[in-house]
Amino acid sequence: MLIAGERTAGEAGEAIPVVDPATGQTLAEVPRGTVQDVDRAVNSAHEAFADWQRTDAEDRANLLRKAIALIERDRKALTESLVHEQGKPVTEAAGEIHHLLHGLNYYADLATKVRGTHQALPSALSKAYGMVLRRPMGVVAAIVPNNFPLTLLGTKLGPALMAGNTVVVKPAATTPLTTLKIAELLLEAEIPPGVVNVVTGRGSEVGDALVTHDKVRRVAFTGSTAVGRHIMGLAAPKLKRMTMELGGSDPVIVAPDANIKAAARGIAIGRFWNCGQMCLGGKRLYVFEEVYDELMEQLVRTVGKYEPGLGWEKAEKPAIRVGPLHTSSGRDEILEQLQDALDTGGELLLGGEAPDGDGYFMQPTIVADPATDSRVAREETFGPVLPVWKVSDLDEAIQLSNDSEYGLGASVWTNDIRVINRVANEVEAGMKWVNQFHYGYDELPFGGVKQSGYGKEHGQEGLDYYLEDISVVIGGLE
Ligand code: NDP
Repeated sequence: MLIAGERTAGEAGEAIPVVDPATGQTLAEVPRGTVQDVDRAVNSAHEAFADWQRTDAEDRANLLRKAIALIERDRKALTESLVHEQGKPVTEAAGEIHHLLHGLNYYADLATKVRGTHQALPSALSKAYGMVLRRPMGVVAAIVPNNFPLTLLGTKLGPALMAGNTVVVKPAATTPLTTLKIAELLLEAEIPPGVVNVVTGRGSEVGDALVTHDKVRRVAFTGSTAVGRHIMGLAAPKLKRMTMELGGSDPVIVAPDANIKAAARGIAIGRFWNCGQMCLGGKRLYVFEEVYDELMEQLVRTVGKYEPGLGWEKAEKPAIRVGPLHTSSGRDEILEQLQDALDTGGELLLGGEAPDGDGYFMQPTIVADPATDSRVAREETFGPVLPVWKVSDLDEAIQLSNDSEYGLGASVWTNDIRVINRVANEVEAGMKWVNQFHYGYDELPFGGVKQSGYGKEHGQEGLDYYLEDISVVIGGLE
């Protein structure tokens, strides 16, 4: 763990293993954090806040830029570390580090552009004017999931630090290693000790202690809807500021006029990147009957080139490497969801097998027409399974898209502005894409509706969520 600028083994003196999902072998061990470790980390962040909030915004930005340069320096080693602890192929891990750097740069640039306002006031009481200051909140608890451990760390660290807050990070128990390396680089960049702390350990122990700690003012959570609900319940009595970036089951609609080749390619990337373990992956595909056969032929051919294998080995062309599921239990779950899809009438078009061996691999899978109340239709499928349905018109596509408790993202493949307009306005989701696979841009606010959560990460709005608007009345002017 990293508390107050120092590596520590924690109070319990116990370790938890970090496993390589491609081999099932233990890579390293990290301390099992406890309530006492959380308390020390939060207190250290609380003490560091006193100076960090007073540090010039420009100086904070320059320190972050220095850290960015160090991450760039160590890019190769960080990529390797991410491949081994998460399982994703090296090209995807390199892409994640690139996204992390891009996001941190974005917030380093924004740090000096935070503005409050001046407000004229009536002089009935006395001559006065008002100001709205934009103040940091204090200690932020950043709880990060296992699928994109670094970009989702960056979406919290960047805006939290540039707004003047200090942070205690709780990485997923299964992906703490690269996060610890990044935190050490922040220290090397001379971001003061205590400004960023990392407590490793289990969510049920460390996570719960963090969100209920009195000195934590803001909780930035990315993870499953179930854990999000649990955390909200814990934090509610203490009225914490929260963002909840939760699960999704994004619909993708393919209209009759779509560029089918581009759609097949985009849908394949959007569903099978990161072995399908993406919050904003296209997880339900609705295809107009006029183009169904053509799209499916191309999609099955494209996805057929995906080959499960070790992330640090490149696939022989034209095969495309897909890594393992992150955990064995995650693979069991997705296999059960697939079985339910087949039991409810789904037809297997591709894949479906989990190869024998030590890693948690699974073939990319496409299943046609499972029941609309099957698990793949109703739940989040966090793995490489794509269910597909034929639709007869846009009304049906929109109705099925909205027939889900989730509302994270949605997309449509078409050039018809009337279709685009209806999807943009009528599909219930926090972010939409037209003729593009689902990707979270640093420049645009991202966050869900319905059971996908609330609050925004990315964009200027992401920074706003780390600032309090404080009104100040200036009187005594006469
Ligand atoms: P989890 O919800 O299982 O875990 C997320 C984080 O919460 C981990 O750090 C976990 O720690 C921690 N946690 C677990 N239990 C508790 C608890 N009781 N109190 C506090 N913290 C706890 O999600 P996964 O890591 O499996 O990630 C996948 C999920 O994340 C998917 O549902 C995906 O859609 C969602 N996600 C959402 C995104 C968005 O922006 N909307 C982006 C990316 C993913 P530990 O690992 O120790 O259990």
